Amino acid sequence: MIACLGRIVHDNDAESKLDDDVSTISKSLELQGSIESGDVLSCSASKDFGGLYSIKPLFLIKPSGAEDISRVVKFAARTSNLTVAARGNGHSINGQAMSDGGLVIDMRSTEESHFEFLTINDSPHIDVSGGALWEDVLTQCVSRFGLAPRSWTDYLSLTVGGTLSNAGVSGQAFRYGPQTSNVTELEVVTGKGEITVCSETLNSELFFGVLGGLGQFGIITRARVKLQPAPDMVRWIRVVYSEFDEFTRDAEFLVTQEEGESFDYVEGFVFPNRDDVFDGWPSVPLDPVHEFSPGHIPQTAGSVLYCLELAFHYRNSDHPSTVDTVVSRILGRLGFVEGLKSQVDVSYTEFLQRVKRAEEEARANGCWDRPHPWLNLFVSKSDIVKFDRTVFKTMLKDGVGGPMLIYPLLRSRWDNRSSVALPDGEIFYIVALLRFVPKGQSVEKSVAQNQEIVKWCTQEGLDFKLYLPHYQSIQDWKRHFGNQWSRFVDRKACFDPMAILAPGQNIFRRDP
Ligand code: FAD
Repeated sequence: MIACLGRIVHDNDAESKLDDDVSTISKSLELQGSIESGDVLSCSASKDFGGLYSIKPLFLIKPSGAEDISRVVKFAARTSNLTVAARGNGHSINGQAMSDGGLVIDMRSTEESHFEFLTINDSPHIDVSGGALWEDVLTQCVSRFGLAPRSWTDYLSLTVGGTLSNAGVSGQAFRYGPQTSNVTELEVVTGKGEITVCSETLNSELFFGVLGGLGQFGIITRARVKLQPAPDMVRWIRVVYSEFDEFTRDAEFLVTQEEGESFDYVEGFVFPNRDDVFDGWPSVPLDPVHEFSPGHIPQTAGSVLYCLELAFHYRNSDHPSTVDTVVSRILGRLGFVEGLKSQVDVSYTEFLQRVKRAEEEARANGCWDRPHPWLNLFVSKSDIVKFDRTVFKTMLKDGVGGPMLIYPLLRSRWDNRSSVALPDGEIFYIVALLRFVPKGQSVEKSVAQNQEIVKWCTQEGLDFKLYLPHYQSIQDWKRHFGNQWSRFVDRKACFDPMAILAPGQNIFRRDP
């Protein structure tokens, strides 16, 4: 069988034999799931949301669960050169879920492998598949149990395993930490093909390695996620600032308050100070009926404005005046521009699915399927004023054709045993440049501007890290991980010594 595959690998144009070989391999691996080859590969596994890379694998495997995945990894280990990439929902930007001529595992085919509710030490948890979408976890948890995970991403058509391999960050992370801080147990298929259950106390090196581990140490097939009672409703609020120091002062104030003294969700974004329905101040109000009056924008405002986006959870049984009182009390402590406030009340699930509506619009106007040269950074509080002055106020004063997020996070909510690399200091900001490149405009220009920003941050010695990192050279990876690099290498040697997993991250290379 290995010989058979070796022949395919070295004779890629033997298309006519491919179907026979697929069926031979499938049978000898005794997969419950299926293997696909041919044209189907060019439309799914060879692409991602970024749209910047197209890399064709040899086969796309649709496993039925961990056993199938283990067989595939062990099989790859017996060949001289095959690598294995787990593909969540392919929402990476830079080909991270791809494998050049290797095996791509479509994790979505395992989405229904697990869905079990558990109570551990009186706390509710849910076991879900690594291939499940967060939007399905939300729907099931709320409708069946009235419960929900505590920490989210803004967009929920991402897989559990995909976000846990990075971090998973949204406006709840200041309180509960990223999604990686909200799982208590994982089932993982390592690079040796072993199916291993791990947690803080059981195989802990694998557990923390895999969390934020960029898929390098194992494929997450099951995650145990902490739950809490789901609220019924959310008051969703946006308030605008003209001055960056006032914006950051209030954002940092909110993320450092005790629960009950702050909102349940705190995010922020920067937008060009212009009359543009797409990305200027007319795009900010949540309720289109109540537009902002430009007269409220101070004369002293610069090229960009800042918006804090906030949410307050409540139950249908809460009296409206109680909600008003609490929200007014917290808002009363903030210094946003008077008159530049907008709010709506929406259901909890509607709030969490808010980016889905943006997706539907982007799909309708064709820009969802165009390239997305996104750049995500974590920038230390100590350097954020400098970053704002040069990057937002100058380089990006005309926007990026999409949202430019910026909001503070607390390092103490992250577990430093996980593999994620963070800046120093307790408070750091996530900066997300979510670029949409309009038809006819150059992707290269956007990519070049991203590179210019990263280069400037490096040259100026800013304390920053890339989130969802992507590098071409091992030197850059070493710099990224800093003093965590040797731990990362040791974990690789232990759990994926042949460098079979997640080749698209471009960190380790399987020797031929
Ligand atoms: P993929 O892109 O398929 O895979 C990502 C990496 O993880 C690959 O290296 C892959 O091999 C590996 N991998 C996939 N599944 C597994 C698994 N089960 N076990 C081990 N490794 C695996 N991120 C945030 O933190 N917050 C956000 O609010 C947010 N919003 C986003 C909105 C959009 C529209 C998009 C496109 C992305 C967003 N992201 C956000 C980034 C997102 O978290 C990452 O791109 C994530 O990797 C996507 O998940 P995926 O399931 O598509 O993974």
